[in-house]
Amino acid sequence: MRIETIQGSRCPACGLTVAPPAPFCPRDPVAMTSVELEGAGEIVSFTTLHSPPAGFRSPLHLALVALPGGARFICHGAETRGLRIGSRVAIEAVNDVYYFSHLGALDRARLFWRRTGRAGDRVHAIARSLAKRAWKGRERVSS
Ligand SMILES: [Zn+2]
Repeated sequence: MRIETIQGSRCPACGLTVAPPAPFCPRDPVAMTSVELEGAGEIVSFTTLHSPPAGFRSPLHLALVALPGGARFICHGAETRGLRIGSRVAIEAVNDVYYFSHLGALDRARLFWRRTGRAGDRVHAIARSLAKRAWKGRERVSS
């Protein structure tokens, strides 16, 4: 499995890393520095949408992946079968879209036939709710 690097940024004050790169830390009023992150992480949560937003093929496989350092990504994948929370996957970034595991160009092309406008917004909304659910799960575990 080929491991690629992903562009991100790190807060010099608290050490938080985020991707895609952000100019400022969400926690501190300081500018973040750009870093290269290793494109491999752990599955935090995943889902398969059988009624995906317009513009995406069904089923749409999404996973929330955490990288060492705290950065979290919503990634697209070819399938979620066999995936578990804590599974290690490779992440690849292609035009600001992240993919888990290794996918060839043809697999990537099959995932989308159109990825613009509202469809992109809908996926970001799904990504946010998935991230929120994973976060709540973490709170339950830690309390
Ligand atoms: Zn910070």
